[in-house]
Amino acid sequence: MGILDIVPAGVVTGDNMRKLFAYAREHNFAIPAINCTSTSTINAALEAARDINSPIIIQFSNGGAAYIAGKGLSNKNQEASIIGAVAGAQYIRAVAKAYGIPVVIHSDHCAKKLLPWFDGMLAADEEYFKAHGEPLFSSHMLDLSEEPKEENIEICLKYLKRMAPIGCLLEMEIGITGGEEDGVNNEGVDNAALYTQPEDIWDIYKAFSEVTDLFSIAAGFGNVHGVYAPGNVRLHPELLGKHQAYVKEQLGDKCDIPKPVFFVFHGGSGSNEDEIKTAVENGVVKMNVDTDTQWAYWDGLKNYYEGKKDYLQTQVGNPDGPGKPNKKYYDPRVFIREAEKSMATRVQQACKDLGNVNTL
Ligand SMILES: [Zn+2]
Repeated sequence: MGILDIVPAGVVTGDNMRKLFAYAREHNFAIPAINCTSTSTINAALEAARDINSPIIIQFSNGGAAYIAGKGLSNKNQEASIIGAVAGAQYIRAVAKAYGIPVVIHSDHCAKKLLPWFDGMLAADEEYFKAHGEPLFSSHMLDLSEEPKEENIEICLKYLKRMAPIGCLLEMEIGITGGEEDGVNNEGVDNAALYTQPEDIWDIYKAFSEVTDLFSIAAGFGNVHGVYAPGNVRLHPELLGKHQAYVKEQLGDKCDIPKPVFFVFHGGSGSNEDEIKTAVENGVVKMNVDTDTQWAYWDGLKNYYEGKKDYLQTQVGNPDGPGKPNKKYYDPRVFIREAEKSMATRVQQACKDLGNVNTL
């Protein structure tokens, strides 16, 4: 039985979201969440997943969402980030079914100072729910890992209570992910703080599950955002297995599955196959991919330019003759397409690394 036997093609939310993640956890694979900033990058991710018969998660960062709306728009009070995220989600809803695969629409890291962004997206979810009986987005991420644990849980709970009735999943973060991403810099944090403790996971699980089971946890296990030289980061994905065992033990008879928690893998760029495999075996169902697909998009464009350089210097005139037009070389549908193809290949690589191939 494949995924399409349990959830339909198109955007998945609520109960289907739960089924999709539970299926991935049970079958030991994870779905990559691709950061997208345009219809071009969204299409590359959808096409990549469709061609290997797999579901995909598309996510927007705060800056990426603003970019979708346009760099020319002011982001005062998070307006551009809200408009861009909503526009991106509506675009995905318009095309997802045509690709024939289940698609998750997600918003990435939202720190405390960006909460107005979260509120704006949630308002759009509630409005969409009134008309269609489901939220616009499948899920959102709240990153309050820089706040004290109690405050992190408290604010998440407040939002969870708003999200549960409309069937929108909440992804939260505990423990600090090193590195720098979207303006949050944790490069100076000492190593011990990078690892989450099992008691922390249980505190979250216990509090959240009184409201809903539609939540996931990005737990720090030495993760670093961005790409660093190999050997600088020590990942301990086996810790996630200890967290699962601890939560299961606390639940006792109330838990009849080996891995009760949905985990999310942040800051995984540059991690090796074994680390990813261990993370997935221990209940990681979603892994964020951004840095590597950004590079792939650029690399596709760079290779195209280098290969066709002599056809890209003037509108008319190239090695074939002084009067030959170059239109077919500088049409964005040609050069951006090369970026998309290169990105799609990298998305498929991410799917392969996570075991998300032919899972439909
Ligand atoms: Zn994170």
